[in-house]
Amino acid sequence: MESVILFVAIFLMLLGVIFLIAAGTQNLITGGALVLMAIVLMVFVYRSKRIEASKPTLVSQNFNVTMSGSGQMEKKELNCRSCGAPLSDNNLKVVQGGVIMTCPYCGTVSSLEESPKW
Ligand SMILES: [Zn+2]
Repeated sequence: MESVILFVAIFLMLLGVIFLIAAGTQNLITGGALVLMAIVLMVFVYRSKRIEASKPTLVSQNFNVTMSGSGQMEKKELNCRSCGAPLSDNNLKVVQGGVIMTCPYCGTVSSLEESPKW
């Protein structure tokens, strides 16, 4: 779908440039209008692609809201499953829908989703 719009945009751009090169007064207006339409289409495709790219960011934002929303979460102590060292929020990382914690002492990486307390 987007590639079709992009193709049309490039076609309009080329057609507009040809009109501009021809350089009659009438052609200048037509060429300018075509180039303008091409730019609008390209901006449209660019913006729709940016919306798609920002979707994963929205997911992690929703997650952060649920984390800060429940104040009881902070009272629970997180401990490393390997060496038992206490872990803070700084050791947590949100990776594609899941949460991964890295122990600063022994370097053990584990997923929070596996814990029944969460
Ligand atoms: Zn550890």
